[in-house]
Amino acid sequence: MNRLHVDWTACDGRGLCAELLPELLVEDDWGYPVPRGDMSVPPALEPAARQAVDRCPALALRLTRVVTGPAPV
Ligand code: SF4
Repeated sequence: MNRLHVDWTACDGRGLCAELLPELLVEDDWGYPVPRGDMSVPPALEPAARQAVDRCPALALRLTRVVTGPAPV
């Protein structure tokens, strides 16, 4: 599973990502995205998440792979 990551130093708060991913993000009063949860991207939202990453005008969004499973010993 992937997780959405916002680079807060780059985000300029235009709110496009919250429009594209309302299931994961809401827009605050200044247009900055506020996560609804831990930003894990369910498979059904992968296309929308990739579109949000591609369309972010500040290149502030990326998807990171979340590795799940037993901890290494
Ligand atoms: S689309 Fe990019 S710049 Fe715009 S609010 Fe989202 S993360 Fe910030």
